[in-house]
Amino acid sequence: MAQGTLYTISAPSGAGKTSLVAALLENSGQQICVSISHTTRKQRPGEQNGVNYHFVSRDEFIALRSDDRFLEWAEVFGNFYGTSRDWVTEQLEQGLDVILEIDWQGAEQVRAKMPDVRSIFILPPDLDALRERLQNRGQDDQETIDQRMQLAHDEISHYGAADYLVINDDFDTALIDLQAIFRCVRLEKDLQLKNHPRLLAQLLETTV
Ligand code: 5GP
Repeated sequence: MAQGTLYTISAPSGAGKTSLVAALLENSGQQICVSISHTTRKQRPGEQNGVNYHFVSRDEFIALRSDDRFLEWAEVFGNFYGTSRDWVTEQLEQGLDVILEIDWQGAEQVRAKMPDVRSIFILPPDLDALRERLQNRGQDDQETIDQRMQLAHDEISHYGAADYLVINDDFDTALIDLQAIFRCVRLEKDLQLKNHPRLLAQLLETTV
């Protein structure tokens, strides 16, 4: 079986990344999965340990990092975030496409280690829309929202490193764009050769 494809999806806070990825998964059958990161940040209301994140202490995170258990890791908003190397490798070997919802620093580390990764950046239609979405989310206080707006600028400034840009103005359109990327990548010649080796060889053998 051919290996799955690894994707990173990055976005400034409030660009709608998590909702878009959830909708993408709902309609993808079992072919795509999302890595659940480890983080030292506090659990938000409604979040579940082992579902949204593996919530760990700083000491636990540092121990895992020393053990080289992370494919990538970064400090974002003063908290540590990291992706489990073994879990990602296992899913890819089973032929599943794996999404890493990570920031630009993590995406750069993954690109350096796994150059075949496809990187996607989700952008807001403008900065006012971003602030509005952060405020409507109701999960953070004003100081955190202001801090996230500043850091959103920083995250956005790295979109140039991505392979694909999706602008989330209208949610349904952005979802179709995201689905199109996954579908297109599966049709790339090298992947088709791996997924249909016998057919593609037979087509050349047969004389007409
Ligand atoms: P939040 O705390 O709002 O869920 O995520 C904050 C930021 O951390 C987002 O930009 C998100 O993409 C990033 N992030 C989440 N998990 C990881 C991870 O495993 N690695 C890296 N590098 N960034 C992550």
